[in-house]
Amino acid sequence: MIILVWLRHDLRLADHPALWQAVQDGAVVVPVFVWAPEEEDPWAPGGAHRWWLHHSLTDLKARLQAHGSDLVLRSGPSLEALREVAATTGADAVYWNARLLPALRARDAEIRAALDADGLTVKTFTGRILHDPDAVQTGSGGPYKVFTPFWKKLGKLDYEVDAPLDVPILTGTAPVAWPASEAIGGWALTPEAQDGVDWATEIAARWTPGEEAAQARLQAFMDEALIDYADDRNRPDRPGSSSLSPYLHHGEISPRQVWHAVQGWIQNGAMKDAAEVFLSEIVWREFSYHLLWHFPETPTEPLKDKYAAFPWADDAEGLRRWQRGQTGYPIVDAGMRQLYATGWMHNRVRMIVASFLTKDLLLPWQRGAEWFWDCLVDADLASNTMGWQWAAGSGADAQPFFRIFNPVSQGERYDPQGDYVRRWVPELRDLPTKYLHAPWDAPAQQLRQAGIALGETYPHPMVNHKAARQAALDAYETIK
Ligand code: FAD
Repeated sequence: MIILVWLRHDLRLADHPALWQAVQDGAVVVPVFVWAPEEEDPWAPGGAHRWWLHHSLTDLKARLQAHGSDLVLRSGPSLEALREVAATTGADAVYWNARLLPALRARDAEIRAALDADGLTVKTFTGRILHDPDAVQTGSGGPYKVFTPFWKKLGKLDYEVDAPLDVPILTGTAPVAWPASEAIGGWALTPEAQDGVDWATEIAARWTPGEEAAQARLQAFMDEALIDYADDRNRPDRPGSSSLSPYLHHGEISPRQVWHAVQGWIQNGAMKDAAEVFLSEIVWREFSYHLLWHFPETPTEPLKDKYAAFPWADDAEGLRRWQRGQTGYPIVDAGMRQLYATGWMHNRVRMIVASFLTKDLLLPWQRGAEWFWDCLVDADLASNTMGWQWAAGSGADAQPFFRIFNPVSQGERYDPQGDYVRRWVPELRDLPTKYLHAPWDAPAQQLRQAGIALGETYPHPMVNHKAARQAALDAYETIK
């Protein structure tokens, strides 16, 4: 039997249910990746995501070759590409892991029906999340809209997370002749190829995409940071979180692998507590997929209907200043610059900048989600949608609208020595820590000594937080 394995957001060899089953069922296995961004419209991969994909596919192809196989790269449309590779190889079947995205549901169903009609056997698997979203239901049936009961339910199921699969033995599964494969360079995924400007230098310095790097990251996190995760995960000035998000997003590591590795790491009670906090974050990811599956309109529409009438502002210049990290609030600007430079932002700071956009600037959360989409190497429709709707107050289990983050006190609390701000907003580097999160409070002499001229070397705050907060509460009254 000749089986195509259609790789999607699962760019790994280990714990790959479709690949594993194909090797069990077939004499010949042909891994295929199809580049068809237009089929994901309006959520085609953004710039940083494409950079990652370029390197991830390059790595995966080399890994498959080292295991005696290969990766066939084709441009879409997906159905045409799969049919063509199936015809050239004389394939009997196509296997893939489900992707769970609203835009792809109808497409995947059509592809499945068409391949069925061609006489091919189609099998699909779950590899992206721990549990099928339809299998986790509230006591009265239906989806969860609140995290804590969802977590308790999955927490009860923890021993039911199946063990991850090994890398299958691919030696001897190659076809007699490999079908033609396109050169990845032709897909223009890297910045030079996209727009002639290499904005990815820091991204490349910060990240190593690929399955081996994902495993190394997980191991380093367990060795060095997991034990302190409960405290340090909120500190952008420390390497306290795992940085696994892009690896999970691109499927270079599976949540099941992370789950079992962390369970295996526990040796005593303190470790159990730390592991539980961390695993609850993996379940937040799971929850975001649960929400997206059951509420597929939420990437653009508020989950809570009343927010459709919220009087959002329209301020292109305000949006641009937020995007560029020029708001005059150091912790916000540090986060936005970290995002642009490295393709990633710390979770605490994501919450702060999202609160600032939606509450201080009253700009629609969708504009923030779009910018994140283009800039994040981990841009993930489920988590990004949930995060933005949470910040705006319009989502499932969202933070109440009236809880508005104060960017100064958040900075002082979570970046107490100012290391994070100094790293990303170097023009404030020499300001004493006392004033770092509110430079406008610094005496003129301190500013001068630190080489800062507000309004010239660093902006004045673009809004007064106290007044902006009141304006947000007034706006909320109109839909309450
Ligand atoms: P860790 O703290 O080490 O957590 C481990 C893993 O758990 C993460 O890799 C991630 O997969 C998952 N996780 C952690 N926190 C969350 C969360 N709040 N929601 C969902 N999953 C979580 N995450 C993305 O992966 N992609 C996004 O596009 C994305 N957009 C976001 C937008 C906003 C406005 C907010 C507030 C959060 C967003 N998040 C997103 C969630 C979170 O910020 C990142 O997952 C986290 O910062 C990644 O860093 P880490 O891997 O070090 O996380």
